Amino acid sequence: MSYGGFAQDSGSTRVVRHHQSHRKTNTIRSVLDRVGPVNSDDSVSPLLPGSFIHRNLPLRSILRSELMPKDHRSSSKLNSTLRTCEPELKQRLPVINLQKKVCRYWLSGNCVRGDKCHYLHSLFSGKGLSILVQLKGHQKAVRGIAFPSGSEKLYTCSKDGLIRSWDCHTGQCADANNLGCEIGSLISAGPWVFVGMLNAIKAFNIDTNAEYCLTGPVGLVYAITVERDVLFTGAQDGTIYAWKFNPESNSFQGPALLKGHEGAVVSLVVGANRLYSGSMDHNIKVWDVDTLQCIQTLNGHSAVVMSLLFWDQHLFSCSLDNTVKVWAASEDCNVEVIYTHNEEDGVLALCGALDAEAKPVLLCSCNDNSIHLYELPSFSERGRIYATQEIRSIHIGSGGLLFTGDEAGLVTVWKWVSEPGSQAS
Ligand SMILES: [Zn+2]
Repeated sequence: MSYGGFAQDSGSTRVVRHHQSHRKTNTIRSVLDRVGPVNSDDSVSPLLPGSFIHRNLPLRSILRSELMPKDHRSSSKLNSTLRTCEPELKQRLPVINLQKKVCRYWLSGNCVRGDKCHYLHSLFSGKGLSILVQLKGHQKAVRGIAFPSGSEKLYTCSKDGLIRSWDCHTGQCADANNLGCEIGSLISAGPWVFVGMLNAIKAFNIDTNAEYCLTGPVGLVYAITVERDVLFTGAQDGTIYAWKFNPESNSFQGPALLKGHEGAVVSLVVGANRLYSGSMDHNIKVWDVDTLQCIQTLNGHSAVVMSLLFWDQHLFSCSLDNTVKVWAASEDCNVEVIYTHNEEDGVLALCGALDAEAKPVLLCSCNDNSIHLYELPSFSERGRIYATQEIRSIHIGSGGLLFTGDEAGLVTVWKWVSEPGSQAS
């Protein structure tokens, strides 16, 4: 690996191109192996493998084993256990000094105090994360980051209308494709890269170079997710547009319309055969993935629901109302809040990751230009990532990689590292 690159050291998930037929299954398999058991609901289609495999980590088992006896799984029990255990769990964890603020002069490139400065001259405080490389090129806010399994390239998109691909070995921008309009979102699923644009979705197949333009959405497409062979996209007009991929005709059929929100749909996630949509109308709707019917509306947030994460049977939502909420299905199958975490600022984006010791970490990007890292299930803060502007894109890749993209257009590649002397307990 050359300097500045961010390809992982191991070749296990980087199989050379001419073994293409084996490559995809191998890489998907290795990702599955790494994150442990996945629900049968999350079975991987050979056509559009779920891109949110990393969002189905075994949190429930962690919550269960840490907090409660096996026979007491009801959400009300979990709720009370989360609340009562929290102070105790916090005491058990090492205390990290997070009072230190990052130096704004250093951030803008010039702090005359140098080593004597009282403020932090680093983009991270805490433990277990280091910067590999920063990718500079986008002139406006980063709106999506994707690192397709088996790909040698990282894809990023920006409000400036450009999709950039970055060479994993050199860290250099390999290609820049100007779509000529605002971009709202980008994800990858198997060999597909989907880009949410104004009134359309672009679909690229990175193996075959096939390219489709799916029209129908009204306004900017803010959110995209894939479940099996169905593509769900959330648009500015409050509608979710769904396409089904037909392998025989090699085409996307649809869209079917999922209506109900009264504001733009800005976040989508799939888990346990349900689609969850977060909206500017402050609500989250729960949809049956098979029937495409809305089965529940979750009230609880008092501002825009910016980001959703599904982590082993738990739904995490964050909002500009300064909260992160954890939801779970009760015994009568209704989804309800089991825990609310408060921040001092609006919460823009969520991501779940496992650190170098395979401990679950929740990343909450706040509009104070930082990402707060919490150990789960205690919600004890264990670190903070700083930026010059808000970070709205967070994505995890294989090999312990983490990618962040900020409103200034900067993409940063991080890697989870074992701290000297730390032990996996
Ligand atoms: Zn300073």
